[in-house]
Amino acid sequence: MNIILLGPPGAGKGTQAQRIVEQLGVAHLSTGEMLRAVVASGSDLGQQAKQIMDAGQLMPDELMVRMIAERIEEPDCAKGFILDGFPRTVPQAEALDAMLAEKGLPLHAVIEIQVDEAALVARIETRISESQTARSDDTVDTLKRRLDVYRAQTAPILPYYRERGQLRAVDGMSSIDEVSQQIGEILQASVRA
Ligand code: AMP
Repeated sequence: MNIILLGPPGAGKGTQAQRIVEQLGVAHLSTGEMLRAVVASGSDLGQQAKQIMDAGQLMPDELMVRMIAERIEEPDCAKGFILDGFPRTVPQAEALDAMLAEKGLPLHAVIEIQVDEAALVARIETRISESQTARSDDTVDTLKRRLDVYRAQTAPILPYYRERGQLRAVDGMSSIDEVSQQIGEILQASVRA
């Protein structure tokens, strides 16, 4: 199965993606994780990426599309993949559609994890206080900027998928188990469809 998980930063996309990976054996494609690996490499690109990520801004579409196009070719994606953090702009969504069409790959589900922004800020505060190895983009100020960026640049992809009849939503304010269950039901329905 090929799945897209959408939702603002802190909505729990990574946690839910991990669970789907365990259940379905699909590959977890997190562009944030890929970028953090580039940052850790210390390359020039990594240094530029760190600045952009710490500022809560988005990396250029072209680079992100290339990253995903290459990653989808890897053998572990043959059983399917879950995209977590990509697409994040309408041009990325359009490029993904073109890429999947060219490779003859279907998109089985686009799932939005809906959350309340005030609750997200509270969640991130907990994550920061509990985390030994806090991500350098995990600050309340950065989260607020990332939420602004999400509203301005990423939320417009919701109507993009809704118009195509592909968008399904789950209530991200429910418990982790309940969200997983809702996602499971959507995935089962998309297999039957
Ligand atoms: P994430 O772990 O998905 O929250 O991503 C962390 C940061 O990486 C984001 O705040 C962006 O700066 C960058 N990033 C991740 N995915 C993308 C993407 N698809 N397009 C542009 N920037 C991205």
